[in-house]
Amino acid sequence: MNADVIVIGAGPVGLLLAAELRLAGASPLVLERLAEPNTEPKARGIGPLATEALYRRGLGETLAPYRQRGLADKTRDHGSEKGHFAQIFKIDPALQDEPERGGTLIWQPDLERILAEHLTSLTRESSAVLLREHEVIALTQDDSRVTVTVSTPAGERHLSAPYLVGCDGGRSTVRKLAGFDFPGTEPTSVMRRVLTDAPGLDKLPEPGWTPTGRLMRAPGMVATVEFDGFEDRGQPLTAEEMRESLFRVTGVDVEIPEVRGPLRFTDGARQASTYRMGRVLLAGDAAHVHSPNGGQGLNLGLMDAVNLGWKLAATVTGRSPEGLLDTYTAERHPAGAAVLHNTRAQSLLSLPGAHAAAMRDIVSDLLDFPDVNRYFGRMLSGLGTRYELPYPATHPLAGRACPDLRLVTSSGETRTLSELCGPGRPLLVHAPSQPEAAEAAGPWRGALDVVEATVRDRDDLASVLIRPDGTAAWASSPGPADTVTLTAALRTWLLPS
Ligand SMILES: Cc1cc2nc3c(=O)[nH]c(=O)nc-3n(C[C@H](O)[C@H](O)[C@H](O)COP(=O)(O)OP(=O)(O)OC[C@H]3O[C@@H](n4cnc5c(N)ncnc54)[C@H](O)[C@@H]3O)c2cc1C
Repeated sequence: MNADVIVIGAGPVGLLLAAELRLAGASPLVLERLAEPNTEPKARGIGPLATEALYRRGLGETLAPYRQRGLADKTRDHGSEKGHFAQIFKIDPALQDEPERGGTLIWQPDLERILAEHLTSLTRESSAVLLREHEVIALTQDDSRVTVTVSTPAGERHLSAPYLVGCDGGRSTVRKLAGFDFPGTEPTSVMRRVLTDAPGLDKLPEPGWTPTGRLMRAPGMVATVEFDGFEDRGQPLTAEEMRESLFRVTGVDVEIPEVRGPLRFTDGARQASTYRMGRVLLAGDAAHVHSPNGGQGLNLGLMDAVNLGWKLAATVTGRSPEGLLDTYTAERHPAGAAVLHNTRAQSLLSLPGAHAAAMRDIVSDLLDFPDVNRYFGRMLSGLGTRYELPYPATHPLAGRACPDLRLVTSSGETRTLSELCGPGRPLLVHAPSQPEAAEAAGPWRGALDVVEATVRDRDDLASVLIRPDGTAAWASSPGPADTVTLTAALRTWLLPS
């Protein structure tokens, strides 16, 4: 089996990474230990950055109905569409700097199905891209290849490729086998959650704090948070364990006849010190774990996948400028660290007792100030993320995920950026008044698409260079275009063609 990259794990991150690799001309092979897709309803949504990334891949129409339905569910469960920081539901979408950049409330199994179909649609009929019941149990690498030993129902197999990416979740085997460092902080709480309509739930008190923990409820769901007893049982949560936890937290004994979607997780926060060791890389939960507070993990992992996919594909197909692959850790490690940082703050605010309660009241009052509300909104959505670019880039958009701009092309058509970015190639949009930008891109013409168009709705933007992951690598205000920086940007990200 001739793969350029072996991807371990067919969770959302592994599936999207494989699709990004395919799109950029590499041959991925995904190995997954489970026989069937995961049905655990973990994440309930993705943020604006991942939503825009999927729209750029033509998945907008598929996601749109979930967006509407998800907003209705959220309003039902929490009384409004507002987001939360440490369960303080005050982050108001209408107050944000860019309110049109919203996320998609979609349950994780639905998203995984959509991503699996997307990967299949990009796959040549003859090539098997995803092998189930293939569990990685050993790994070695040398100067040219990575080899894994895989346990399958038919016995052990050995598979190798020039590169391997561990997308195998928070307990990543790849991370351990390859010897990645994984420093961080110990848990302060453990949450247990089941989906159930057990009739006895009516006896429970109102959701909220109790002297021994916290009770959370939504239609068909009950959860507890406790602040001691973190031993890692390595086994799924059972009905009995949930019943015991409910009793400890509320003093009410509720029989739970059946358990669906059982989840037990802590707020331990850890991050790999580097996302690459030689030919082995990490993405998604394999690279970073933290509490689900604020619903950021899946979004973060999907953005790892879109950042890595085109860079790794360029590397394995010999189209990579020097050092391109190292920019993956340089860009994504700070993005992950920022999420760990804010989830730790949320953990502190969620502790029991008078001190944390006083701080929660103060943060809740602060969220009534629109500027503060926007600060928290930017932080949790990831819209504040700005990559440090290795050349001078002064435009406010440079280094940031470019919004889905509306453009009027030279033929008078109005198009969105996501429509023009379709095939995942880099794109230079230049204003008719800045033909010098197109001229500067001449040597790279075979490696990127160039479109002459006028940007609507933004006075500060005339031309922009978009990387395949949607990052604005260079941007120019109206006036003469800075072609020296544009050339530096093109040299950094693309080989001349
Ligand atoms: C309760 C809860 C709520 C959450 N809510 C949100 C939210 O609203 N928004 C958000 O953005 N995030 C949320 N998250 C986080 C999100 O679920 C994770 O970040 C996401 O699942 C990470 O995806 P992944 O592909 O990196 O890993 P996973 O989803 O864990 O996938 C890893 C895959 O690797 C496979 N695998 C593991 N080991 C091996 C091996 N040795 N060989 C082969 N295959 C292997 C596994 O079977 C699995 O299929 C939530 C998490 C929890 C627990």
